[in-house]
Amino acid sequence: MTYDVIIGLEIHAELKTKSKMFCSCSNDAENKAPNTTVCPVCLGHPGTLPVPNKQAIDWTILTGLALHCRINRLSKFDRKNYFYPDLPKGYQISQYDLPLAYNGRLDIDGREIQITRIHLEEDTGKSLHFKDQDYTLLDFNRAGTPLMELVTEPVIKDAAEAKKFCTAYQQILRYLEISNADMEKGEMRCEANISLQTPGGWEYKQGQILAKKKWLLGVKRPLNPKVEVKNINSFRAVEKAINFEIARQTDRLKKGEKILAETRGWDENKNATVSQRLKESSADYRYFPEPDIPPLEITEDWLNRLHADLPELPAAKRRRFIQEYQLKPETVDIIIGDKALAAWTEKVLSELDAWIEANGDQAARQERRLAKTAANWITGELYKHLNSHKQKVADLKMTAENFAELVCLIYQDKINSSAGQTILETMYDKGGDPSQIMIDLGLEQMDNEAELEKTVQHIINDNPQQVAQYKKGKTNVLQFLLGKVMAETKGKANPKIVKELLEKMLAK
Ligand SMILES: [Zn+2]
Repeated sequence: MTYDVIIGLEIHAELKTKSKMFCSCSNDAENKAPNTTVCPVCLGHPGTLPVPNKQAIDWTILTGLALHCRINRLSKFDRKNYFYPDLPKGYQISQYDLPLAYNGRLDIDGREIQITRIHLEEDTGKSLHFKDQDYTLLDFNRAGTPLMELVTEPVIKDAAEAKKFCTAYQQILRYLEISNADMEKGEMRCEANISLQTPGGWEYKQGQILAKKKWLLGVKRPLNPKVEVKNINSFRAVEKAINFEIARQTDRLKKGEKILAETRGWDENKNATVSQRLKESSADYRYFPEPDIPPLEITEDWLNRLHADLPELPAAKRRRFIQEYQLKPETVDIIIGDKALAAWTEKVLSELDAWIEANGDQAARQERRLAKTAANWITGELYKHLNSHKQKVADLKMTAENFAELVCLIYQDKINSSAGQTILETMYDKGGDPSQIMIDLGLEQMDNEAELEKTVQHIINDNPQQVAQYKKGKTNVLQFLLGKVMAETKGKANPKIVKELLEKMLAK
């Protein structure tokens, strides 16, 4: 028997505000000594008062708007009480029943994944455990970092879709420029809730998975509990951890064993999830309204201002690039994967449009030939360079204008593709004008017919055997002769013209 797989995600993202959530401590603890970006507020000293970070609230609402959420016009913070060494107050300030955003959605390959809520809370400190040591050290630099939590409805169908959701969400956070959302650095943390149910034995109603069928005696068939998987720190791990859980739970159910409602951690080395603790219910946290922070009233004006701040988001950009520039979806996915690369590409494309305008090449405009050539070079050669140098688009030495000019040189057959690669390499290393680099390196394509005719004639004279074969109908000999001409001209001859010349002169 196969079971229905039910997956919901909880994703935490650290917001990159200047200061922390409830105090003025620096929110940037990278490369800082432990416990140096702390103050009495984020250390939870008695008598201190938290003051909410407006930027963090704005950004959470902005995320809500980007994901088509409704925004609670009256929102508030609540205390979530639990004891943990890296939580100095003994509670975390979070949001319980009035999150900033709720009822949103994100489209994944045409399927709508509903978002239950997005709320704002504070991060905890870090516990540092050392191998073979009987103590733990605490670093509170992270305590009080604004943390935004997104919760999806349990509607994700498999591991691949969960991974795509995380990727798409990360992209949105980066487009909004509110979080670096690097999973390896813990700036984005993903938890998956997974349960397996008997087909026909459950239904999804108002956000809940409910038991459906009744036994003869009127007793509901019990649902299998969900298992929460934490410590997932890469997109690959999202997929692997979920697939592992599906296999593990299927195996247990088939053997007639019970599934425990528990929290498990993904162990990268074991390639398995391991039990961490039995699940607490939300009642255990004894939530109550944070008495030190008044409720938030989110006004119409405030919302309108944030609406105006929304940039073009990845999905819209993707659609526009495909329609406007007639590019292939696979190509566009690479380009829009990085907001800066997308902006840079757009600059190149607008330079090319200006060039078409000035040169009146209507055919090229209609078929977007230049845009296609540019996109191929950006996602091919340029992307390869960026990756191998681990470089950001912002640090590129060449300008979009110069790159556009290179594309024009290629498009006009002034250089061939191997010369294009050489010029791009030079531009990548030290910038510069591609036409000048072409002249300096002597890479200009030879397309002077009279000159090429001399070379072609000389190759024909030197290869009587092949010429005879060609005249007997062995037309693929042409490629051999073309190669000879290209070698003679050190690769600079325009192959199109040479081919035409060869055909014309051999026909005599
Ligand atoms: Zn502080």
